[in-house]
Amino acid sequence: MAPQFTIPKTQKAAIVEKTDAPLKIVDNHPVKQPSELAPGECLVELDCSGVCHTDLHARNNDWPLPAKLPLIGGHEGVGRIVAIGEHTQSSPVKVGDRVGIKWLAYSCLDCEPCRKGLEQSCLNGQYSGFTVDGTFSQYVVSWVTHVTPIPDNLSSAEAASILCAGITVYRAIKYSKAKIGDWIVLPGAGGGLGHLAVQYAAAMGLRVVAVGQYTYVNTGAEKKELVMKLGAEKWVDFRETKDLVKDIKEATDGFGAHAAVVTAANGAAYAQAIDYLRMGGTLMVVGLPARANLSADIFFTVVKSINIIGSYVGNRQDAREALDIASRGKVKCYYVTKPLSALSETYEGLAEGKIVGRVVLNMKE
Ligand SMILES: [Zn+2]
Ligand SMILES: [Zn+2]
Repeated sequence: MAPQFTIPKTQKAAIVEKTDAPLKIVDNHPVKQPSELAPGECLVELDCSGVCHTDLHARNNDWPLPAKLPLIGGHEGVGRIVAIGEHTQSSPVKVGDRVGIKWLAYSCLDCEPCRKGLEQSCLNGQYSGFTVDGTFSQYVVSWVTHVTPIPDNLSSAEAASILCAGITVYRAIKYSKAKIGDWIVLPGAGGGLGHLAVQYAAAMGLRVVAVGQYTYVNTGAEKKELVMKLGAEKWVDFRETKDLVKDIKEATDGFGAHAAVVTAANGAAYAQAIDYLRMGGTLMVVGLPARANLSADIFFTVVKSINIIGSYVGNRQDAREALDIASRGKVKCYYVTKPLSALSETYEGLAEGKIVGRVVLNMKE
């Protein structure tokens, strides 16, 4: 028999009521009751939720796409399924399972992008903490087809940031065409996405050139030590280098790197990549700044046969693979846990580029 859970009528939640109003933490937000769940929906009692830079964009509503209002943000949630909608057909998960809620909350699985495995670009997609309420609350409603099973040997807090940051960099590296022994450049290597990217790349047999983060205050020795420990082979300090392109080329046998995964919010980082990639190299475009243009030198993109590929989070399979690699100890997220009440100050830290690693909010506190 499926385990029984007591489901309260109200819960703690962080709510954005209006774009410019302060975030409101309430403890009387209604919990959708099991009898109210539609077929295919499930109710998840959250243990924790990671905080992602995207949440800050959703909170500020500064993207070209508008977020819903009022909004509960968050899309790196881990918890237990406590109810599944009546008349749900052939659910891949059951009540009691520990699952993750990622950015892609729902996709139709039937439009052309979905049929091609690009469900994150679904024409009918729903996004956690953006078009539907997310995980900065104690309970969240999701879909049985889209929650991600969490491996037993990964704690909820360890899994949280894999669900967005981890999946995003894992998929970008996977589709970068880089093969074992190839050089990959990872700008922002000490940051939230970057420190995970270094570990995934190393686990996939790539040789990593880590480049110091663009916005962080403390580049330098401390960051170098961290990324070398995570598996980077070469380090280029963004603040100290006089010629980034030359330094990267020198670090990669003089020919340049086979791939670069650029998560930066500034356009210059993308343009530079065209210069330091070798012939046939691939630029993976991953950052989601509010407004920035990608400018590439057309002449050199052509004569160097450069690939420029956009990569958007990941699909259900990418999610399972990213978690599996982490569960085998190959990738560890550096995070600090805080209570939900610390969300506002976390946003401020993100806006100022002061958060090193990830912040995971404990929903049980
Ligand atoms: Zn995210
Ligand atoms: Zn679709």
